[in-house]
Amino acid sequence: MPYLEIRKLEKKYKDFTLSASFGVDEGEFLCIIGPSGSGKSTLLSLIAGLDKPDGGTITLDGKDITGEKIQSRGIGMVFQDFTLFPSMNVERNIQFGMKEKKAERKKISDALLKLVGLEGYARRSVSSLSGGEAQRVQLARAIAAKPRILLLDEPLSALDAPLRKSIRSSIRAIHDTLGITMLYVTHDREEAFSISDSILIMHEGKTVAMGTAEELYRHPADLFTAFFTGEGTSLPAHLVFENSDGSIFFRPENAVISEENINPAMYPMHVIFNDAEILSCEFCGSAYMLGLQYQGYPILCQSTTKPRKKTVSVMILRESILSLS
Ligand code: ADP
Repeated sequence: MPYLEIRKLEKKYKDFTLSASFGVDEGEFLCIIGPSGSGKSTLLSLIAGLDKPDGGTITLDGKDITGEKIQSRGIGMVFQDFTLFPSMNVERNIQFGMKEKKAERKKISDALLKLVGLEGYARRSVSSLSGGEAQRVQLARAIAAKPRILLLDEPLSALDAPLRKSIRSSIRAIHDTLGITMLYVTHDREEAFSISDSILIMHEGKTVAMGTAEELYRHPADLFTAFFTGEGTSLPAHLVFENSDGSIFFRPENAVISEENINPAMYPMHVIFNDAEILSCEFCGSAYMLGLQYQGYPILCQSTTKPRKKTVSVMILRESILSLS
């Protein structure tokens, strides 16, 4: 049984129904991604106990906690909005809620400040902190309560990009040092790819896919997951395989470009699109991203060189083409 098990969890609002099932192992770093409004925050609120589900169960470490009070769940939370007590200094914010003796509390909060990279900040007033520092203090305070699980809801979305990158690395490092199970909501795919052990994808209130970043990228089970985890091309299957329904999908890096027409009979292992018109050509550092049009359908592919003609041929290894719906 997983450490945290969410089984048929349901929450109904007027125009929205959440329905979630998944499991998280002890010590796992799970990122939850999905479009805005897909139910990520609702799911965290239900797990934390801030909200009551209409059905289903939440089991933590073998115990059903679905009806348990917030305080007795042992779940810590870090949110996007800074929720520190402005009248207390950094140290007292971190020590708030700790049950240890005074000297011990001091030792722990000093160690936590070091862990989050804020050594020497103990006596600073909360109002003097930058956004990134305040988020680090929030993190230290949440960890101080020794949670069994830490929930983080877009904790870095108010910060600028370089700071987000540096703090997210610290969060992952803290996870690895302490081994705390973490559920981290983000709308940023790159962030989820870089810090997670596994990723849960939500769509219209449902948990639709779960796996490592690489599994979801290379073997998405449906078109939504395919496009949510990266760029690609989806075409009607009949364009490629006779009498086929549904769609095919491939990633831009799996397409090879030729400036000459290709004879399909010479390449039985490949699917060939000759005379694809180039609509756009963008340099993106490691390659050019070409936006093509083939028989009225858009195709996206990568090319190491910039094509000189207005049309190109595209060849894709059959085994890197997925049939999805
Ligand atoms: P996400 O975090 O993925 O952006 P949310 O969980 O915040 O999505 O919201 C999912 C849906 O649930 C939205 O349509 C939102 O309007 C609705 N919702 C969330 N909380 C409430 C509430 N307290 N009352 C009514 N609708 C709500």
